[in-house]
Amino acid sequence: MNEIKQKLQQIKARIRKAAEKSNRNPESIRLVAVSKTVPAKIIRQAIEAGVTILGESYIQEARTKISAVSLPSASISWHFIGHLQTNKARDAVRLFDLIHSVDSFKLAAALNREAEKIHKIQPVLIQVNIAAEASKSGIATQAAQNLIADISTLRSVKVNGLMTMPPYFNNPAKARPYFDELRLLRDQLQKNMNAELTPNLSLHELSMGMSGDFETAIAAGATLVRIGTAIFGERN
Ligand SMILES: *Cc1c(COP(=O)(O)O)cnc(C)c1O
Repeated sequence: MNEIKQKLQQIKARIRKAAEKSNRNPESIRLVAVSKTVPAKIIRQAIEAGVTILGESYIQEARTKISAVSLPSASISWHFIGHLQTNKARDAVRLFDLIHSVDSFKLAAALNREAEKIHKIQPVLIQVNIAAEASKSGIATQAAQNLIADISTLRSVKVNGLMTMPPYFNNPAKARPYFDELRLLRDQLQKNMNAELTPNLSLHELSMGMSGDFETAIAAGATLVRIGTAIFGERN
């Protein structure tokens, strides 16, 4: 068994254990293997070992790698998790099944225009800057509801949930309040929005948790965990 396969099995076992510990169905948590900076050859090993969702942060890099990996792509889903510039919207809708990092109406409108051109409904998540860190992207917590209401008027973009990156802590337990806050925000938004004009909105996805804190995120309700280092090793 190669190293990637071994690491992947360990991660999957940890996801299962964390789910069971908080009485959640392990099937309700999906692993996004974050493959930024990882060469196509290693990505192929991960796919052979059972990875079904890959996460990339840079459009240029993803474009080259997605065509290089070129395995029976029907079974592989590519997610965009990095900061997305409006001028990359065209590539983003062509390459990615889910975009985790929408944080402005301008970006959503650009994605909508490009998705319309290829007759696609583009699923997205809203990135929320829960800790209001100046260094991080994401919409402010208080502004999330208006943003989602505005995006809900766009016909070719569909909001499926929320994403966040808490501040970095050595002790993952310290990230717990931020994960809880994202879940509570989701519950509140779901309730408010469905009571208003958007009965069809379903914010079922919570994208939170990385190599250092995914078990904490699962305890708080994560449905998508984004794990790079713990599968592929340290990035340069
Ligand atoms: C790189 C990255 C990850 C993966 O981080 P690891 O600590 O390597 O697991 C997750 N989410 C986002 C948004 C990232 O940019």
